[in-house]
Amino acid sequence: MTSTDDIPYLDGLEFAARMRSRLANKLARDFPLKTHNISLSKPLLTICFDDAPMNALSVAAPLLEAFGAHATYYIASSLIGTETQYGAMLDARGLEELHRRGHELGMHTHDHLLLPLVSRAQVRRQFEQNLAVLNKIIPDLPVENFAFPYGQAAFQHRGLVAELSRSARVVHNDFMRGHMDVQHLSCVELGEQRMAWPELDKALERAAKASGWIILMTHDVGAEPSPYGATPQRLRQVLETASRLGFGFANVRQALDMCGVPPFQRANPATRTEF
Ligand SMILES: [Zn+2]
Repeated sequence: MTSTDDIPYLDGLEFAARMRSRLANKLARDFPLKTHNISLSKPLLTICFDDAPMNALSVAAPLLEAFGAHATYYIASSLIGTETQYGAMLDARGLEELHRRGHELGMHTHDHLLLPLVSRAQVRRQFEQNLAVLNKIIPDLPVENFAFPYGQAAFQHRGLVAELSRSARVVHNDFMRGHMDVQHLSCVELGEQRMAWPELDKALERAAKASGWIILMTHDVGAEPSPYGATPQRLRQVLETASRLGFGFANVRQALDMCGVPPFQRANPATRTEF
């Protein structure tokens, strides 16, 4: 789920809280924490699925794999095996299958919380719980990348998020080239109801010309997707266009490696100090 404007279960969010969240997100964007210089020999495309619904595996994964691509699935662990507005969500078997097929599993908090509005201790607990659930399903699973629920970064927690993840992704219609903030990776929404094709096509062309890294994100993939999902036709159109434009395909972990971002070292919980 993406912006805070049109999310059904954030309908009750007060105006002041919404503004606070937006401000925290804007400050995080305006004051980068960890910038990294990227220089790629060819453009890179990453596809992500947030939350994530079952058809992001059953429908989308075969399409990606036909192009030799692997995605990053950002999992909010309290949603595993549940029914949501997207339909059936991935269960433990689905997550195992994704891992077996070479896709990456990333963090998205346990309860899909809007981070700008929660405490530092809650942020840490949400990361720990998210990781514990994923590691219970797949022991020793390397989980290092994170996507902010609703695409909203939290300026006040960015040091902590940087300690708990190798990268953090927001939703901000842009792509990465030159200096990028690893803790504020931009992404563009893939679905038809989020962006018209000519605009998305132009974004791909601009990223190709700049040898940049573009991340596209969606949720469900099906013939009749939710407003936050995409059709298989749109996904195929993106993959075909990217191939024609000379993009390489990589999930977030692979793309960070290709951009020369240092490997992630998770801090030992025994040595940390919480304030
Ligand atoms: Zn989400």
